[in-house]
Amino acid sequence: MEGMRHAKGPLLTVDVSERTATRTEIDTLLEQTVGGRATATALAHDRIPFDADPFGPENRAYLSTGPLQQSQMSFTGRMNMTSLSPLTDGLASTNAGGYLSRNFTGTGISVFEVVGKSDELLAIHVTDDGVEFEAVPELENALVPEVSEYMAETRDLGPEHCIAIGPAGENLVRFASVMTFDSRAFGRGGLGAVLGSKNVKCVTFQGEAQPQIEIPPVQMDVHQEAATSDDRMKRQGTTGGTEFINDNFSLPTRYFEEYEFEHAADIGGNAVEEKKYKKGSCSACAYACKLPTRDEETGLETEGPEFETVYAFGSLQGVGDIVDVMKSNELCDTLGMDTISAGVTVAAYLKSEEAFGDADLAHEVTEQIAYRDGVGDLLAEGVHRCHDELGVDDYTVKGMEFAAHDGRVLHGQGLSYAVANRGGDHMYAGMLSLEYSGELNPEGTLGKATTLVERENYAAFRDSGVVCAFGGDYVTDDRLEALFDAEYDELLAVGAATVERERHFNNQRGFDRGDDTTPYELPDLEAAVQEYYEARGWTADGIVPDEAVQSVSPSAD
Ligand code: SF4
Repeated sequence: MEGMRHAKGPLLTVDVSERTATRTEIDTLLEQTVGGRATATALAHDRIPFDADPFGPENRAYLSTGPLQQSQMSFTGRMNMTSLSPLTDGLASTNAGGYLSRNFTGTGISVFEVVGKSDELLAIHVTDDGVEFEAVPELENALVPEVSEYMAETRDLGPEHCIAIGPAGENLVRFASVMTFDSRAFGRGGLGAVLGSKNVKCVTFQGEAQPQIEIPPVQMDVHQEAATSDDRMKRQGTTGGTEFINDNFSLPTRYFEEYEFEHAADIGGNAVEEKKYKKGSCSACAYACKLPTRDEETGLETEGPEFETVYAFGSLQGVGDIVDVMKSNELCDTLGMDTISAGVTVAAYLKSEEAFGDADLAHEVTEQIAYRDGVGDLLAEGVHRCHDELGVDDYTVKGMEFAAHDGRVLHGQGLSYAVANRGGDHMYAGMLSLEYSGELNPEGTLGKATTLVERENYAAFRDSGVVCAFGGDYVTDDRLEALFDAEYDELLAVGAATVERERHFNNQRGFDRGDDTTPYELPDLEAAVQEYYEARGWTADGIVPDEAVQSVSPSAD
Protein backbone atom coordinates (compact mmCIF):
# COMPACT_ATOMS: atom_id res chain seq x y z
CA MET A 1 0.00 0.00 0.00
CA GLU A 2 2.89 2.38 0.80
CA GLY A 3 3.95 2.68 -2.80
CA MET A 4 0.53 3.54 -4.17
CA ARG A 5 0.42 6.87 -5.99
CA HIS A 6 -1.53 9.33 -3.86
CA ALA A 7 -2.35 13.00 -3.42
CA LYS A 8 0.23 15.15 -1.65
CA GLY A 9 -0.01 18.18 0.55
CA PRO A 10 -1.36 19.00 4.00
CA LEU A 11 -4.88 19.16 5.36
CA LEU A 12 -5.94 22.80 5.72
CA THR A 13 -8.47 23.24 8.52
CA VAL A 14 -10.42 26.49 8.65
CA ASP A 15 -12.44 27.19 11.80
CA VAL A 16 -14.90 29.91 10.85
CA SER A 17 -16.01 30.49 14.47
CA GLU A 18 -12.48 31.42 15.49
CA ARG A 19 -11.29 32.51 12.03
CA THR A 20 -8.21 30.39 12.31
CA ALA A 21 -6.43 28.27 9.73
CA THR A 22 -4.23 25.28 10.57
CA ARG A 23 -2.14 23.06 8.33
CA THR A 24 -1.63 19.43 9.37
CA GLU A 25 0.61 16.94 7.58
CA ILE A 26 -1.40 13.85 6.60
CA ASP A 27 1.14 11.86 4.55
CA THR A 28 0.40 8.58 6.32
CA LEU A 29 -3.34 9.01 5.82
CA LEU A 30 -2.85 9.82 2.11
CA GLU A 31 -0.63 6.75 1.63
CA GLN A 32 -3.48 4.61 2.92
CA THR A 33 -6.36 6.41 1.24
CA VAL A 34 -4.97 7.87 -2.05
CA GLY A 35 -7.08 11.07 -1.91
CA GLY A 36 -10.55 12.33 -2.85
CA ARG A 37 -13.48 10.49 -1.31
CA ALA A 38 -11.43 7.89 0.60
CA THR A 39 -9.30 10.49 2.36
CA ALA A 40 -12.23 12.80 3.10
CA THR A 41 -14.38 9.92 4.36
CA ALA A 42 -11.63 8.78 6.73
CA LEU A 43 -11.28 12.32 8.08
CA ALA A 44 -15.06 12.76 8.37
CA HIS A 45 -15.45 9.43 10.12
CA ASP A 46 -12.69 10.21 12.62
CA ARG A 47 -13.31 13.93 13.20
CA ILE A 48 -17.07 14.57 12.99
CA PRO A 49 -18.76 13.54 16.27
CA PHE A 50 -21.10 10.59 15.69
CA ASP A 51 -23.95 12.56 17.28
CA ALA A 52 -23.30 15.77 15.32
CA ASP A 53 -26.14 17.93 14.03
CA PRO A 54 -25.64 18.35 10.24
CA PHE A 55 -26.36 22.07 10.73
CA GLY A 56 -24.30 22.35 13.94
CA PRO A 57 -20.87 24.01 14.14
CA GLU A 58 -19.41 20.58 14.98
CA ASN A 59 -20.17 19.24 11.51
CA ARG A 60 -17.24 19.44 9.10
CA ALA A 61 -17.16 19.68 5.32
CA TYR A 62 -14.24 18.44 3.22
CA LEU A 63 -13.09 19.31 -0.26
CA SER A 64 -10.41 16.90 -1.45
CA THR A 65 -8.30 16.10 -4.48
CA GLY A 66 -6.57 12.96 -5.72
CA PRO A 67 -3.14 12.57 -7.33
CA LEU A 68 -4.48 12.79 -10.91
CA GLN A 69 -5.64 16.38 -10.51
CA GLN A 70 -2.00 17.35 -10.96
CA SER A 71 -1.84 15.66 -14.36
CA GLN A 72 -2.98 16.82 -17.79
CA MET A 73 -5.02 13.66 -18.34
CA SER A 74 -8.58 13.62 -19.66
CA PHE A 75 -11.31 12.58 -17.20
CA THR A 76 -9.54 14.11 -14.19
CA GLY A 77 -11.10 17.60 -14.01
CA ARG A 78 -13.08 16.64 -10.94
CA MET A 79 -13.02 16.94 -7.16
CA ASN A 80 -14.71 15.33 -4.17
CA MET A 81 -16.73 16.87 -1.36
CA THR A 82 -17.79 15.02 1.84
CA SER A 83 -19.80 15.92 4.95
CA LEU A 84 -22.59 14.78 7.24
CA SER A 85 -25.64 15.24 5.02
CA PRO A 86 -28.71 17.18 6.19
CA LEU A 87 -30.74 15.18 3.65
CA THR A 88 -29.76 11.60 4.59
CA ASP A 89 -28.43 12.27 8.10
CA GLY A 90 -25.44 10.07 7.21
CA LEU A 91 -22.07 10.67 5.57
CA ALA A 92 -22.32 11.71 1.94
CA SER A 93 -19.72 12.33 -0.73
CA THR A 94 -20.42 14.12 -3.98
CA ASN A 95 -18.28 14.91 -6.97
CA ALA A 96 -18.12 17.88 -9.38
CA GLY A 97 -16.30 18.74 -12.57
CA GLY A 98 -15.29 22.13 -13.94
CA TYR A 99 -11.93 23.80 -13.55
CA LEU A 100 -11.59 24.02 -9.77
CA SER A 101 -9.30 21.01 -9.36
CA ARG A 102 -6.22 22.60 -10.92
CA ASN A 103 -6.64 25.82 -8.93
CA PHE A 104 -7.22 23.86 -5.74
CA THR A 105 -4.01 21.85 -6.18
CA GLY A 106 -2.23 25.13 -6.89
CA THR A 107 -2.66 26.04 -3.23
CA GLY A 108 -0.48 23.04 -2.32
CA ILE A 109 -3.02 21.37 -0.04
CA SER A 110 -4.70 17.99 -0.55
CA VAL A 111 -7.76 18.52 1.66
CA PHE A 112 -9.70 21.63 2.74
CA GLU A 113 -11.74 21.22 5.93
CA VAL A 114 -14.24 23.75 7.28
CA VAL A 115 -15.70 23.62 10.80
CA GLY A 116 -17.53 26.00 13.15
CA LYS A 117 -20.12 28.68 12.43
CA SER A 118 -19.37 32.27 11.51
CA ASP A 119 -21.46 35.08 12.98
CA GLU A 120 -21.50 36.83 9.59
CA LEU A 121 -21.58 35.76 5.96
CA LEU A 122 -18.05 34.96 4.82
CA ALA A 123 -15.91 34.44 1.77
CA ILE A 124 -12.72 32.49 2.48
CA HIS A 125 -9.71 33.00 0.23
CA VAL A 126 -7.13 30.21 0.17
CA THR A 127 -3.78 30.78 -1.54
CA ASP A 128 -0.41 29.08 -1.44
CA ASP A 129 0.50 31.89 0.94
CA GLY A 130 -2.27 31.62 3.53
CA VAL A 131 -5.96 32.14 4.28
CA GLU A 132 -7.97 35.36 4.33
CA PHE A 133 -11.47 35.79 5.74
CA GLU A 134 -13.71 38.41 4.15
CA ALA A 135 -17.12 39.42 5.50
CA VAL A 136 -19.53 39.63 2.55
CA PRO A 137 -22.90 40.85 3.92
CA GLU A 138 -23.63 42.34 0.48
CA LEU A 139 -23.79 38.80 -0.93
CA GLU A 140 -26.70 37.76 1.29
CA ASN A 141 -29.06 35.64 -0.84
CA ALA A 142 -26.94 36.37 -3.93
CA LEU A 143 -27.39 34.03 -6.87
CA VAL A 144 -24.39 31.88 -7.75
CA PRO A 145 -23.43 33.97 -10.85
CA GLU A 146 -23.67 37.13 -8.71
CA VAL A 147 -21.07 35.65 -6.36
CA SER A 148 -18.85 34.98 -9.38
CA GLU A 149 -19.30 38.55 -10.62
CA TYR A 150 -18.33 39.88 -7.19
CA MET A 151 -15.18 37.73 -7.08
CA ALA A 152 -14.25 38.80 -10.62
CA GLU A 153 -14.69 42.49 -9.76
CA THR A 154 -13.06 42.51 -6.34
CA ARG A 155 -10.40 39.79 -6.72
CA ASP A 156 -10.02 39.29 -10.47
CA LEU A 157 -10.86 35.61 -9.93
CA GLY A 158 -13.03 33.67 -12.37
CA PRO A 159 -15.63 31.06 -11.36
CA GLU A 160 -13.05 28.32 -11.99
CA HIS A 161 -11.40 29.41 -8.73
CA CYS A 162 -14.56 29.32 -6.62
CA ILE A 163 -17.03 27.18 -4.82
CA ALA A 164 -20.18 29.07 -3.89
CA ILE A 165 -23.66 28.53 -2.53
CA GLY A 166 -26.82 30.27 -3.68
CA PRO A 167 -29.89 31.32 -1.68
CA ALA A 168 -30.84 27.65 -1.23
CA GLY A 169 -27.68 26.94 0.74
CA GLU A 170 -28.09 30.02 2.91
CA ASN A 171 -31.72 29.10 3.59
CA LEU A 172 -30.77 25.54 4.58
CA VAL A 173 -32.66 23.78 1.81
CA ARG A 174 -31.80 20.16 2.55
CA PHE A 175 -30.78 19.47 -1.05
CA ALA A 176 -28.82 22.67 -1.68
CA SER A 177 -25.73 22.17 -3.82
CA VAL A 178 -22.27 23.66 -3.73
CA MET A 179 -21.56 25.14 -7.16
CA THR A 180 -18.29 25.70 -8.99
CA PHE A 181 -17.72 27.33 -12.39
CA ASP A 182 -21.34 28.56 -12.04
CA SER A 183 -22.82 25.42 -13.62
CA ARG A 184 -21.05 22.43 -12.04
CA ALA A 185 -22.56 21.05 -8.88
CA PHE A 186 -21.44 19.10 -5.87
CA GLY A 187 -25.07 18.14 -6.07
CA ARG A 188 -26.27 15.25 -4.00
CA GLY A 189 -26.80 15.28 -0.24
CA GLY A 190 -27.36 18.95 0.53
CA LEU A 191 -23.76 19.94 1.27
CA GLY A 192 -24.61 23.49 0.18
CA ALA A 193 -26.81 23.74 3.25
CA VAL A 194 -23.86 22.60 5.41
CA LEU A 195 -21.83 25.57 4.13
CA GLY A 196 -24.93 27.74 4.60
CA SER A 197 -25.23 26.65 8.23
CA LYS A 198 -21.65 27.81 8.73
CA ASN A 199 -22.34 31.15 7.02
CA VAL A 200 -19.79 30.39 4.31
CA LYS A 201 -20.95 31.85 0.99
CA CYS A 202 -17.86 31.23 -1.06
CA VAL A 203 -14.32 29.81 -0.97
CA THR A 204 -11.68 30.73 -3.55
CA PHE A 205 -8.48 28.82 -4.35
CA GLN A 206 -5.46 30.29 -6.11
CA GLY A 207 -1.74 29.55 -6.17
CA GLU A 208 1.29 28.08 -7.85
CA ALA A 209 2.40 25.61 -5.17
CA GLN A 210 1.39 22.39 -6.91
CA PRO A 211 3.35 19.48 -5.39
CA GLN A 212 5.01 17.36 -8.07
CA ILE A 213 3.48 13.96 -8.67
CA GLU A 214 4.89 11.93 -11.53
CA ILE A 215 2.13 10.40 -13.62
CA PRO A 216 3.05 7.53 -15.99
CA PRO A 217 2.91 8.08 -19.78
CA VAL A 218 -0.35 6.10 -20.06
CA GLN A 219 -2.06 9.45 -19.55
CA MET A 220 -1.08 10.46 -23.09
CA ASP A 221 -2.89 7.43 -24.60
CA VAL A 222 -6.01 8.24 -22.57
CA HIS A 223 -5.90 11.84 -23.73
CA GLN A 224 -5.41 10.88 -27.38
CA GLU A 225 -8.28 8.39 -27.35
CA ALA A 226 -10.60 10.86 -25.61
CA ALA A 227 -9.77 13.49 -28.23
CA THR A 228 -10.41 11.23 -31.23
CA SER A 229 -13.43 9.28 -29.92
CA ASP A 230 -16.69 9.70 -31.81
CA ASP A 231 -18.94 8.61 -28.92
CA ARG A 232 -22.42 10.08 -29.03
CA MET A 233 -21.85 11.24 -25.48
CA LYS A 234 -19.37 13.82 -26.78
CA ARG A 235 -22.24 15.47 -28.66
CA GLN A 236 -25.18 14.82 -26.34
CA GLY A 237 -23.63 14.26 -22.92
CA THR A 238 -25.63 11.96 -20.66
CA THR A 239 -28.88 12.86 -22.45
CA GLY A 240 -27.85 10.62 -25.37
CA GLY A 241 -29.33 7.63 -23.54
CA THR A 242 -32.76 9.12 -22.81
CA GLU A 243 -34.74 7.28 -25.49
CA PHE A 244 -32.91 3.98 -24.87
CA ILE A 245 -33.71 4.24 -21.17
CA ASN A 246 -37.31 5.10 -21.98
CA ASP A 247 -37.52 2.10 -24.31
CA ASN A 248 -36.30 -0.03 -21.41
CA PHE A 249 -39.18 1.21 -19.22
CA SER A 250 -36.72 2.81 -16.79
CA LEU A 251 -37.66 6.48 -17.14
CA PRO A 252 -39.91 7.20 -14.14
CA THR A 253 -42.77 9.39 -15.26
CA ARG A 254 -45.40 11.54 -13.50
CA TYR A 255 -44.01 10.95 -10.01
CA PHE A 256 -43.33 7.24 -10.51
CA GLU A 257 -46.87 6.47 -11.71
CA GLU A 258 -45.45 5.22 -15.02
CA TYR A 259 -42.18 3.86 -16.39
CA GLU A 260 -42.02 5.53 -19.80
CA PHE A 261 -42.71 9.03 -21.12
CA GLU A 262 -44.47 9.76 -24.40
CA HIS A 263 -42.40 12.94 -24.91
CA ALA A 264 -38.98 11.37 -24.22
CA ALA A 265 -37.74 12.27 -27.70
CA ASP A 266 -38.74 15.92 -27.18
CA ILE A 267 -36.48 16.27 -24.13
CA GLY A 268 -33.75 13.71 -24.96
CA GLY A 269 -30.34 13.79 -26.63
CA ASN A 270 -31.34 15.10 -30.06
CA ALA A 271 -33.45 17.89 -28.54
CA VAL A 272 -30.55 18.93 -26.31
CA GLU A 273 -28.01 18.71 -29.14
CA GLU A 274 -30.19 21.04 -31.22
CA LYS A 275 -29.82 23.67 -28.50
CA LYS A 276 -26.09 23.14 -28.00
CA TYR A 277 -24.12 26.10 -29.35
CA LYS A 278 -20.52 25.31 -28.39
CA LYS A 279 -18.31 22.69 -26.77
CA GLY A 280 -17.98 22.42 -23.01
CA SER A 281 -15.49 20.53 -20.89
CA CYS A 282 -13.72 20.16 -17.55
CA SER A 283 -10.07 21.03 -17.05
CA ALA A 284 -7.68 18.97 -19.15
CA CYS A 285 -10.48 16.80 -20.58
CA ALA A 286 -10.42 16.25 -24.34
CA TYR A 287 -13.67 14.27 -24.15
CA ALA A 288 -15.59 17.54 -23.64
CA CYS A 289 -19.04 16.05 -22.95
CA LYS A 290 -20.60 19.16 -21.39
CA LEU A 291 -23.60 20.87 -22.94
CA PRO A 292 -23.71 24.68 -23.18
CA THR A 293 -27.18 25.26 -24.64
CA ARG A 294 -29.15 28.27 -25.85
CA ASP A 295 -32.75 28.76 -26.97
CA GLU A 296 -32.67 31.41 -29.71
CA GLU A 297 -36.34 32.30 -29.31
CA THR A 298 -36.24 33.17 -25.61
CA GLY A 299 -32.53 33.91 -25.27
CA LEU A 300 -32.32 31.41 -22.42
CA GLU A 301 -28.82 30.01 -21.88
CA THR A 302 -27.75 27.25 -19.52
CA GLU A 303 -25.35 24.31 -19.34
CA GLY A 304 -27.25 21.10 -19.85
CA PRO A 305 -29.68 19.77 -18.89
CA GLU A 306 -27.97 16.46 -18.22
CA PHE A 307 -30.02 13.26 -18.36
CA GLU A 308 -30.94 13.20 -14.66
CA THR A 309 -32.38 16.71 -14.97
CA VAL A 310 -34.31 15.69 -18.09
CA TYR A 311 -35.85 12.96 -15.93
CA ALA A 312 -36.46 14.93 -12.72
CA PHE A 313 -37.80 18.14 -14.31
CA GLY A 314 -39.10 16.46 -17.47
CA SER A 315 -40.69 13.01 -17.44
CA LEU A 316 -41.23 12.91 -13.67
CA GLN A 317 -43.17 16.18 -13.84
CA GLY A 318 -44.92 15.32 -17.11
CA VAL A 319 -43.10 18.24 -18.80
CA GLY A 320 -42.28 17.50 -22.45
CA ASP A 321 -40.69 20.73 -23.68
CA ILE A 322 -36.89 20.94 -23.62
CA VAL A 323 -36.90 24.73 -23.14
CA ASP A 324 -38.95 24.32 -19.94
CA VAL A 325 -36.42 21.78 -18.68
CA MET A 326 -33.55 24.11 -19.62
CA LYS A 327 -35.19 26.85 -17.56
CA SER A 328 -35.55 24.55 -14.54
CA ASN A 329 -31.90 23.56 -14.94
CA GLU A 330 -30.81 27.19 -14.98
CA LEU A 331 -32.95 28.01 -11.94
CA CYS A 332 -31.36 25.17 -9.95
CA ASP A 333 -27.82 26.20 -10.98
CA THR A 334 -28.28 29.86 -10.11
CA LEU A 335 -30.20 29.21 -6.88
CA GLY A 336 -27.78 26.40 -5.92
CA MET A 337 -29.89 23.22 -5.74
CA ASP A 338 -29.41 19.58 -6.74
CA THR A 339 -31.53 19.13 -9.87
CA ILE A 340 -32.45 15.53 -8.99
CA SER A 341 -33.76 16.12 -5.47
CA ALA A 342 -35.32 19.47 -6.41
CA GLY A 343 -37.00 17.97 -9.49
CA VAL A 344 -38.37 14.94 -7.63
CA THR A 345 -39.66 17.17 -4.83
CA VAL A 346 -41.38 19.52 -7.29
CA ALA A 347 -42.86 16.45 -9.06
CA ALA A 348 -44.28 15.30 -5.69
CA TYR A 349 -45.86 18.74 -5.31
CA LEU A 350 -47.31 18.66 -8.85
CA LYS A 351 -48.84 15.28 -8.06
CA SER A 352 -50.41 16.64 -4.88
CA GLU A 353 -51.88 19.52 -6.90
CA GLU A 354 -52.88 17.27 -9.82
CA ALA A 355 -50.84 19.61 -12.01
CA PHE A 356 -48.46 17.37 -13.97
CA GLY A 357 -47.17 19.16 -17.05
CA ASP A 358 -47.55 22.67 -15.58
CA ALA A 359 -44.02 23.93 -16.19
CA ASP A 360 -44.82 27.49 -15.07
CA LEU A 361 -45.94 26.20 -11.68
CA ALA A 362 -42.84 24.01 -11.47
CA HIS A 363 -40.60 27.05 -12.09
CA GLU A 364 -42.48 29.15 -9.55
CA VAL A 365 -42.24 26.48 -6.85
CA THR A 366 -38.56 25.77 -7.60
CA GLU A 367 -37.79 29.41 -6.87
CA GLN A 368 -39.96 29.39 -3.73
CA ILE A 369 -38.02 26.41 -2.37
CA ALA A 370 -34.70 28.27 -2.52
CA TYR A 371 -36.07 31.16 -0.45
CA ARG A 372 -38.37 28.97 1.68
CA ASP A 373 -41.28 31.15 0.55
CA GLY A 374 -44.83 29.83 1.02
CA VAL A 375 -45.09 26.13 0.20
CA GLY A 376 -41.37 26.27 -0.63
CA ASP A 377 -40.64 26.15 3.08
CA LEU A 378 -42.22 22.70 3.30
CA LEU A 379 -40.71 21.42 0.04
CA ALA A 380 -37.21 22.61 1.07
CA GLU A 381 -37.23 19.71 3.54
CA GLY A 382 -37.25 17.15 0.70
CA VAL A 383 -39.72 14.41 -0.15
CA HIS A 384 -38.98 12.16 2.83
CA ARG A 385 -39.89 14.87 5.32
CA CYS A 386 -42.81 16.44 3.41
CA HIS A 387 -44.56 13.57 1.62
CA ASP A 388 -47.13 13.02 4.40
CA GLU A 389 -48.26 16.63 4.26
CA LEU A 390 -48.45 16.45 0.45
CA GLY A 391 -50.32 13.15 0.62
CA VAL A 392 -47.94 11.35 -1.77
CA ASP A 393 -45.69 8.29 -1.48
CA ASP A 394 -42.15 8.66 -0.18
CA TYR A 395 -39.95 7.89 -3.19
CA THR A 396 -36.63 8.11 -1.37
CA VAL A 397 -34.07 5.79 0.19
CA LYS A 398 -32.44 7.05 3.39
CA GLY A 399 -34.07 10.39 2.67
CA MET A 400 -32.44 10.81 -0.75
CA GLU A 401 -34.74 11.25 -3.73
CA PHE A 402 -34.33 8.63 -6.46
CA ALA A 403 -32.27 9.13 -9.56
CA ALA A 404 -33.87 7.79 -12.77
CA HIS A 405 -33.04 4.18 -13.83
CA ASP A 406 -36.08 2.61 -12.23
CA GLY A 407 -35.23 -0.07 -9.66
CA ARG A 408 -38.62 -1.67 -10.27
CA VAL A 409 -37.32 -2.66 -13.71
CA LEU A 410 -33.56 -2.91 -13.07
CA HIS A 411 -33.66 -5.06 -9.94
CA GLY A 412 -29.91 -5.05 -9.29
CA GLN A 413 -30.00 -1.25 -9.44
CA GLY A 414 -32.95 -1.40 -7.03
CA LEU A 415 -30.86 -3.52 -4.63
CA SER A 416 -28.07 -0.97 -4.94
CA TYR A 417 -30.46 1.87 -4.04
CA ALA A 418 -31.62 -0.13 -1.02
CA VAL A 419 -28.20 -0.73 0.55
CA ALA A 420 -26.24 2.35 -0.59
CA ASN A 421 -24.96 4.44 2.30
CA ARG A 422 -25.94 7.51 0.27
CA GLY A 423 -29.50 6.30 -0.47
CA GLY A 424 -31.31 6.60 -3.81
CA ASP A 425 -28.24 7.53 -5.81
CA HIS A 426 -27.36 5.84 -9.13
CA MET A 427 -23.66 6.75 -8.93
CA TYR A 428 -23.00 4.77 -5.75
CA ALA A 429 -22.41 1.51 -7.65
CA GLY A 430 -23.74 1.93 -11.19
CA MET A 431 -25.38 -1.50 -11.46
CA LEU A 432 -27.59 0.11 -14.08
CA SER A 433 -24.92 -0.03 -16.80
CA LEU A 434 -24.50 -3.82 -16.38
CA GLU A 435 -28.26 -4.33 -16.51
CA TYR A 436 -28.86 -2.07 -19.50
CA SER A 437 -26.09 -3.77 -21.47
CA GLY A 438 -27.41 -7.24 -20.66
CA GLU A 439 -24.16 -8.23 -18.95
CA LEU A 440 -26.39 -8.84 -15.96
CA ASN A 441 -30.00 -9.96 -16.26
CA PRO A 442 -32.11 -7.09 -14.86
CA GLU A 443 -34.60 -9.59 -13.45
CA GLY A 444 -34.14 -10.51 -9.79
CA THR A 445 -31.94 -9.44 -6.91
CA LEU A 446 -30.50 -12.78 -5.74
CA GLY A 447 -26.93 -13.65 -6.68
CA LYS A 448 -25.99 -10.04 -7.44
CA ALA A 449 -24.39 -9.10 -4.11
CA THR A 450 -20.79 -9.92 -5.05
CA THR A 451 -21.04 -7.84 -8.22
CA LEU A 452 -22.66 -5.02 -6.28
CA VAL A 453 -19.88 -5.01 -3.68
CA GLU A 454 -17.24 -4.84 -6.41
CA ARG A 455 -19.09 -2.02 -8.20
CA GLU A 456 -19.40 -0.03 -4.97
CA ASN A 457 -15.72 -0.53 -4.17
CA TYR A 458 -14.73 0.46 -7.69
CA ALA A 459 -16.87 3.63 -7.56
CA ALA A 460 -15.45 4.58 -4.17
CA PHE A 461 -11.91 4.18 -5.48
CA ARG A 462 -12.68 6.04 -8.71
CA ASP A 463 -14.01 8.95 -6.61
CA SER A 464 -10.75 8.90 -4.65
CA GLY A 465 -8.42 9.02 -7.68
CA VAL A 466 -10.28 11.25 -8.71
CA VAL A 467 -11.44 9.85 -12.08
CA CYS A 468 -14.60 10.93 -13.89
CA ALA A 469 -17.35 8.31 -13.93
CA PHE A 470 -17.64 8.75 -17.70
CA GLY A 471 -14.04 7.72 -18.36
CA GLY A 472 -14.38 3.97 -17.75
CA ASP A 473 -13.86 2.94 -21.40
CA TYR A 474 -10.60 4.89 -21.52
CA VAL A 475 -9.21 4.75 -17.99
CA THR A 476 -9.41 0.95 -18.01
CA ASP A 477 -8.58 -1.30 -15.06
CA ASP A 478 -5.09 -1.96 -16.47
CA ARG A 479 -4.49 1.74 -16.83
CA LEU A 480 -5.75 2.38 -13.31
CA GLU A 481 -3.11 -0.08 -12.07
CA ALA A 482 -0.42 1.82 -13.98
CA LEU A 483 -1.69 5.24 -12.92
CA PHE A 484 -1.84 4.33 -9.24
CA ASP A 485 1.10 1.97 -9.23
CA ALA A 486 -0.87 -0.81 -7.54
CA GLU A 487 -2.73 -4.03 -8.24
CA TYR A 488 -6.43 -3.69 -9.07
CA ASP A 489 -7.36 -5.56 -5.86
CA GLU A 490 -5.42 -3.03 -3.82
CA LEU A 491 -7.41 -0.22 -5.45
CA LEU A 492 -10.67 -2.00 -4.67
CA ALA A 493 -9.51 -2.43 -1.06
CA VAL A 494 -9.26 1.36 -0.74
CA GLY A 495 -12.83 1.57 -1.99
CA ALA A 496 -14.01 -1.18 0.37
CA ALA A 497 -12.50 0.56 3.39
CA THR A 498 -14.27 3.77 2.36
CA VAL A 499 -17.71 2.15 2.05
CA GLU A 500 -17.11 0.49 5.42
CA ARG A 501 -16.17 3.75 7.14
CA GLU A 502 -19.32 5.40 5.77
CA ARG A 503 -21.42 2.51 7.01
CA HIS A 504 -19.74 2.43 10.43
CA PHE A 505 -20.31 6.16 10.91
CA ASN A 506 -23.95 5.78 9.88
CA ASN A 507 -24.40 2.76 12.18
CA GLN A 508 -23.25 4.94 15.08
CA ARG A 509 -26.07 7.33 14.16
CA GLY A 510 -28.63 4.52 14.28
CA PHE A 511 -28.69 3.25 10.68
CA ASP A 512 -29.25 -0.49 10.42
CA ARG A 513 -31.07 -3.18 8.46
CA GLY A 514 -34.32 -1.25 8.63
CA ASP A 515 -32.84 1.54 6.49
CA ASP A 516 -31.69 -0.80 3.70
CA THR A 517 -34.94 -0.97 1.80
CA THR A 518 -36.92 0.56 -1.04
CA PRO A 519 -40.39 2.13 -1.01
CA TYR A 520 -41.52 -0.45 -3.57
CA GLU A 521 -41.42 -4.23 -3.57
CA LEU A 522 -38.46 -5.98 -5.16
CA PRO A 523 -38.25 -9.76 -5.60
CA ASP A 524 -36.33 -11.47 -2.77
CA LEU A 525 -35.03 -8.15 -1.45
CA GLU A 526 -34.67 -9.37 2.17
CA ALA A 527 -32.56 -12.35 1.13
CA ALA A 528 -30.50 -10.29 -1.33
CA VAL A 529 -29.71 -7.73 1.37
CA GLN A 530 -28.49 -10.58 3.59
CA GLU A 531 -26.29 -11.81 0.73
CA TYR A 532 -24.89 -8.30 0.48
CA TYR A 533 -24.09 -8.14 4.23
CA GLU A 534 -22.39 -11.54 4.02
CA ALA A 535 -20.31 -10.44 1.04
CA ARG A 536 -19.26 -7.38 3.05
CA GLY A 537 -18.64 -9.30 6.29
CA TRP A 538 -21.18 -7.25 8.22
CA THR A 539 -23.70 -8.53 10.77
CA ALA A 540 -27.19 -9.69 9.79
CA ASP A 541 -28.42 -6.27 10.98
CA GLY A 542 -26.16 -4.47 8.53
CA ILE A 543 -23.74 -3.34 11.25
CA VAL A 544 -19.99 -2.91 10.83
CA PRO A 545 -18.26 -4.22 13.98
CA ASP A 546 -16.27 -1.48 15.76
CA GLU A 547 -13.04 -3.47 15.55
CA ALA A 548 -13.27 -3.51 11.74
CA VAL A 549 -12.70 0.24 11.48
CA GLN A 550 -9.48 1.85 12.67
CA SER A 551 -9.06 5.56 13.22
CA VAL A 552 -6.38 6.73 10.77
CA SER A 553 -6.70 10.53 10.96
CA PRO A 554 -4.97 13.12 13.12
CA SER A 555 -7.05 14.07 16.15
CA ALA A 556 -9.36 17.07 15.75
CA ASP A 557 -8.71 18.23 19.34
S1 SF4 B 1 -15.92 13.24 -19.42
FE1 SF4 B 1 -17.23 15.06 -19.35
S2 SF4 B 1 -17.79 15.30 -17.14
FE2 SF4 B 1 -16.03 13.88 -17.26
S3 SF4 B 1 -14.22 15.19 -16.95
FE3 SF4 B 1 -14.56 15.01 -19.19
S4 SF4 B 1 -15.84 16.80 -19.76
FE4 SF4 B 1 -15.95 16.55 -17.51
